[in-house]
Amino acid sequence: MIPVTTFKGKKVGLFGLGGSGLATAQALVAGGADVTAWDDNPDSVAKATAAGIATADLRHVDWDGFAAFVLSPGVPLTHPKPHWSVDLARQASVEIVGDIELFVRERRAHAPDCPFVAITGTNGKSTTTALIAHILKTTGRDTQLGGNIGTAVLTLDPPKAGRFYVVECSSYQIDLAPTLDPTAGILLNLTPDHLDRHGTMQHYADIKERLVAGSRTAVVGVDDSYSSLIADRVERAGTKVVRISRRHPLTEGIYAEGSLLMRAQGGTSSPFTDLSGIQTLRGGHNAQNAAAAIAACLAVGVSDKEIVDGLRTFPGLKHRMQPVARKGEIVFVNDSKATNADAAAPALSSYDRIYWIAGGLPKEGGIASLTPFFPKIVKAYLIGEAAPAFAATLGEAVPYEISGTLEKAVAHAAADAARDMEGPAAVMLSPACASFDQYKNFEVRGDAFVGHVAALEGVTMLI
Ligand code: ADP
Repeated sequence: MIPVTTFKGKKVGLFGLGGSGLATAQALVAGGADVTAWDDNPDSVAKATAAGIATADLRHVDWDGFAAFVLSPGVPLTHPKPHWSVDLARQASVEIVGDIELFVRERRAHAPDCPFVAITGTNGKSTTTALIAHILKTTGRDTQLGGNIGTAVLTLDPPKAGRFYVVECSSYQIDLAPTLDPTAGILLNLTPDHLDRHGTMQHYADIKERLVAGSRTAVVGVDDSYSSLIADRVERAGTKVVRISRRHPLTEGIYAEGSLLMRAQGGTSSPFTDLSGIQTLRGGHNAQNAAAAIAACLAVGVSDKEIVDGLRTFPGLKHRMQPVARKGEIVFVNDSKATNADAAAPALSSYDRIYWIAGGLPKEGGIASLTPFFPKIVKAYLIGEAAPAFAATLGEAVPYEISGTLEKAVAHAAADAARDMEGPAAVMLSPACASFDQYKNFEVRGDAFVGHVAALEGVTMLI
């Protein structure tokens, strides 16, 4: 845990005790702050009280004494409308911060030079975060991985010289971190997402910009116009910017040319590494993630060779286009995290002969947007509630069966793929649906897929 010493002896209000909130309250208490915490959910309040945190309804306390108000990133700061606790903080002119802000202040106070990489973007955050942490760990560096990826940042080990932090930041977390100052800050890409919580695309982009604007080195994906403008603006303001692109050559920066990642420096370009053969980094989207990881690792002093070695051994993230097993030329891919059509597109674009397991609880829009990938799908195995609607969209374009369950789908897809004499093939769960009709969540669904694959005869597990 990182005890938050910057509020020692001061009163702090805190709202939001689910997720990272309780850990934040505990870190504040451990550092000597006088915390008053609350949540709209009585169960969360009870849990915090049981853990020794002082709780009180913040509607009935005196806000004047608070040195800060700590808000959980899951609670609306601005949209669709500010939470009542935010209104109270503003009325009392108490500054509003989140756990990432507490971390950056702690780092500044105790180990301002310890390398800190922060990652944001609409897509690819977790992959890039995990990849950078993997590269650093592989070199033997003391590496702490956390943030939005699932480990609350204040549960990590405290900042000290030589310790590296790799922290995934959602836009909500950036919004609550006014002095975010990473050594290397990455903005991967920007496409419309979560606009219900950010109002407009411009507001969403402005928040993301803050992460790179505060960085010593800003790494920015310039394949979309919002991010490209941000790179220009941040550079004009005097920050060192490293541009990355998965789509076009650059005169300066890191860009993809097919599977090659090129480094452009002083007007000349040379190959940095070749991603072909790295199963866990297939696809143009992963070229963007890898380019960002390279740029950030270079910015914090990792050598070319160390980076290349780390990329080669990246185990991938669970449930995201994860190759989990092989049988001859068939690879079994767990992409359970693809809970809508957009998220399934990268997986479908990354393989050529696909035995596609899809379905679950349907999302608006269905799979019509995936039509360009239909020629790569040898056969589809449809499961869950979405099966009839998906079947209607596939129509005559793709052979399909309604398998119903994941177990049947895996067995049938594996058997069909084994008969495929046309070369390498992928049996892939990339459901383009939520899981809740048949599973507790996408993780449980992905684990079930792996279990069914492991039970097949003659497979070699890769995990
Ligand atoms: P995030 O943490 O931003 O949600 P992840 O790394 O968990 O992103 O990847 C989630 C899914 O998003 C992946 O399975 C893949 O389909 C897609 N994805 C990953 N990286 C990118 C990228 N750079 N651009 C577009 N889509 C991506």
